[in-house]
Amino acid sequence: MVKVETLNKSFGNLHVLKDIDLTVKDREVVCLIGASGSGKSTLLRCLNFLEVKDSGTIFIGGEKVEEATHDLNQVRTRVGMVFQHFQLFPHMTVIENIIEAPVHVKKIPKDQAYQEAKELLAKVGLSDKETVYPGKLSGGQKQRVAIARALAMKPDVMLFDEPTSALDPELVGEVLATMKKLALEGMTMVVVTHEMGFAREVADWVVYMHDGRIVEAGPPDKLFSSPTEQRTKDFLDSVL
Ligand code: ADP
Ligand code: MG
Repeated sequence: MVKVETLNKSFGNLHVLKDIDLTVKDREVVCLIGASGSGKSTLLRCLNFLEVKDSGTIFIGGEKVEEATHDLNQVRTRVGMVFQHFQLFPHMTVIENIIEAPVHVKKIPKDQAYQEAKELLAKVGLSDKETVYPGKLSGGQKQRVAIARALAMKPDVMLFDEPTSALDPELVGEVLATMKKLALEGMTMVVVTHEMGFAREVADWVVYMHDGRIVEAGPPDKLFSSPTEQRTKDFLDSVL
């Protein structure tokens, strides 16, 4: 579903992504872990073409995406993204937020978009919030609306960049539970997270990044219980 080959990205003299190779199969959940500044967000942003890579190849849904020739807005509709601080439109109700992109970007008839949005709200457990404005929601509810809003574009893959890091601790669980449900339904997901419990339980594959490189990757049982690289051990010791 997603394949990255020898991806490199620098900001000026700062080499942020170094020869990244990553494959995410259909219906797979990959968790990206690593210290702050290791390049996790930049990697996700490259996958969504919010950053332009310097070199390397990115395939989405089996198709090699060339920045020069592809309509990146069209490609982005296939790659949903949820950020740490997701901005919902404050002047629109929850349901209006969700149908905005399907109606205006995908040109889906409003009735159909509305029906689909209702189903998505049920999926994220917020059916009763349809006509509420974002300002009236808790952080966890806002983040669940953000997930529904990304899903409304029917993406091939969902990218999550620390979706629970900005939440009060008591609200983290509801967002992780929503993401877990999505994973169990077979959504292909790449999740940057500090929630090691989530990674251990939900991920098919965990990737540890340090200083712009993938140091080690493997199934969660293996990576968390018997990492082979000293750096991975040190990182896990510091967070577990
Ligand atoms: P992570 O998400 O793992 O914390 P990031 O991908 O955000 O790491 O950042 C990796 C490195 O790239 C950091 O040193 C950060 O300061 C730098 N960086 C990220 N975005 C930019 C940018 N737009 N301009 C310059 N440097 C950046
Ligand atoms: Mg980050």
